[in-house]
Amino acid sequence: GSTIGILGGGQLGRMLALAGASLGLKSHIYCPEAGSPAFEVAATHTQAAYEDLDALEAFARSVDVVTYEFENVPGPTAAHLASFVPVRPGPRALAVSQDRLSEKDFLSGAGIALAGYAAVDSLADLNAALDRFGGQGVLKTRRFGYDGKGQAMIRDRATAADALAKLGGKDLVLEQLIPFTREVSVVAARGINGDIACYDITENHHEHHILKTSTVPANVTAATAAKAVEIARRVVDSLGYVGVTGVEMFVTGSGADEDLLVNEIAPRVHNSGHWTQDACLVSQFEQHMRAVAGWPLGNPARHSDVVMENLIGADAEGWAAVLAEAGARLHLYGKAEIRAGRKMGHVNRIRPMAGG
Ligand code: ATP
Ligand code: MG
Ligand code: MG
Repeated sequence: GSTIGILGGGQLGRMLALAGASLGLKSHIYCPEAGSPAFEVAATHTQAAYEDLDALEAFARSVDVVTYEFENVPGPTAAHLASFVPVRPGPRALAVSQDRLSEKDFLSGAGIALAGYAAVDSLADLNAALDRFGGQGVLKTRRFGYDGKGQAMIRDRATAADALAKLGGKDLVLEQLIPFTREVSVVAARGINGDIACYDITENHHEHHILKTSTVPANVTAATAAKAVEIARRVVDSLGYVGVTGVEMFVTGSGADEDLLVNEIAPRVHNSGHWTQDACLVSQFEQHMRAVAGWPLGNPARHSDVVMENLIGADAEGWAAVLAEAGARLHLYGKAEIRAGRKMGHVNRIRPMAGG
């Protein structure tokens, strides 16, 4: 059997290790933090810094392939590992999606529609970009942003200088403010032989900038659903990607005028794909383990309708009631301490497919 090395020990690593175990794939988790949620379910773990070259080498030599469960793996860490063992998805996908500006340049180069954007490294850049976008926009850091951290909405020019200062003054991107009708995503997988498998488009709702629910089917036209999958295919194909990725998109307009703009991509299993654990034959976690192991991809078809709800902070105190609910499946991440804004688990609520 193969051993899969996973950088990162959060809930995504935990669910990857659990899915791999069902197929006889062992996981070796590498993560700097003590007591990470993935450690207790993995065959092996290493607690060491991402800059520890000796620990990285020993890790690489103990596994057949390395993957990761978060996109901020330092570039030199990935490069060092890649000198010993295959790293999937590859260093290019990682580099492109770590930096919003290079990600947007890549997407527009691949012919994928996205919000207008401009690099911002000074107040002069910001003012010029605001001129282009009608005086409004969303200013974001190029790197390390998540859950809405590292961004500021600019609706009024008077607030531009403050927003710029708050985000560090440089290494930023201004995006056109999109009056979207809904937010959706497609979780897609590509195997080492180039096969692609996409899950159904998912509709996502956020609370306090954190994903709260993902609903399938999404309330979009059949044409939009097909187009979203086409976009996700193009993303993984253009990157020569191996593994699972989440492609977040904005839906604009409605009915026959509905259209899509890509917001961002994540080079890993994605929170908006957690519903696949209970509504599909093969979950995104199994799919990712298959892809990085060099195995054939599984069938991404959905057998149920589903709403995934994240249990954030104190939400997790309601776990016993969820266990008593028919049609609900509870997933808890084993985190010892409940903290506000912390993802503690999720619930998949399953219904028979409409018309199915
Ligand atoms: P994640 O946790 O998904 O990685 P993030 O911090 O990387 O979040 P984004 O996904 O870029 O941030 O943006 C967070 C949310 O802010 C989006 O889901 C959307 O609701 C809103 N948003 C972002 N960019 C725009 C935009 N250009 N126009 C309108 N709304 C936007
Ligand atoms: Mg993001
Ligand atoms: Mg996002």
